[in-house]
Amino acid sequence: MADAYDLPKGDLMAGKRGVVMGVANANSIAWGIAAQLAAQGAEMAFTIMEMMEKRVRPLADSIGVKTLIPCEVTDDASMEAAFKTIEDTFGTIDFLVHSIAFSDKNELKGSFVENTTRGNFARSMDISAYSFVDASRRAARLMPRGGSLVTLTYLGSERTIPNYNVMGVAKAALEASTRYIARDLGPKKIRCNAISAGAVRTLSLAGISGGRGMLAHGRAWAPLQEDTAVESVAGCALWLLSDLGRSTTGEVVHVDAGFHIVGLPDEEGGAE
Ligand code: NAD
Repeated sequence: MADAYDLPKGDLMAGKRGVVMGVANANSIAWGIAAQLAAQGAEMAFTIMEMMEKRVRPLADSIGVKTLIPCEVTDDASMEAAFKTIEDTFGTIDFLVHSIAFSDKNELKGSFVENTTRGNFARSMDISAYSFVDASRRAARLMPRGGSLVTLTYLGSERTIPNYNVMGVAKAALEASTRYIARDLGPKKIRCNAISAGAVRTLSLAGISGGRGMLAHGRAWAPLQEDTAVESVAGCALWLLSDLGRSTTGEVVHVDAGFHIVGLPDEEGGAE
């Protein structure tokens, strides 16, 4: 990820305040998005897992984010307290970024049908899909002027990807939730979209068996023949979160160097 200050500056987000959920370290997609939003004048709070604070604090400082809020999304009291702090800090908000997912890595390998337990199925859904519904409801209450909600998804929701397994099922639920949220909140001028990012080297990717293969195949098979750039995922978030995206809602936008359009790769693994 480029240094936050290498990004082109502008004022597309000037006067907008919001919440970014899911920065864990400098490789997090949420961090790429936050840096991009800051470069365009947004004011933000981060919700983070408490144990990540040491890593996240210097990043937050580097873009002037003062409010780091510990938040465990499976815990109603924690979510309640987090959004109370957001309300106390900003009063009202204009945007929310949800960049959170989790599944037991022992179930992100091998056979989906053999390895998926009831407990981890429910937990993966809770953290990776329901948390967006919950956060959207809480955020919408703080958006009297309308707003924009964005979550992060992956192609494993639409097609089978080896080892992605239950996470693909959770992402399908997340994308369907995006459409229902968009429908419910549209009359309040609150938009809701998902970005389907190509493979990016992060902590989450490391939890998927063969995650490196996802990167390598992306590079070899995608029409653009390159990795997905976090800056480009962040650029899409900027479009959706700023007024530039004001007529787009309920959408899943692929930012993956075109990987999702390829049904069968070229014989040698890449186009000449
Ligand atoms: P990451 O590990 O940096 O981010 C995941 C975040 O989820 C972390 O900040 C972690 O603290 C948070 N989290 C997990 N369980 C939580 C819980 N119970 N309560 C609160 N927070 C919790 O990895 P990332 O790759 O930046 O992932 C961000 C999002 O992007 C995820 O939804 C992921 O599925 C999605 N995504 C990632 C890729 C990729 O290749 N890395 C591709 C497409 C989509």
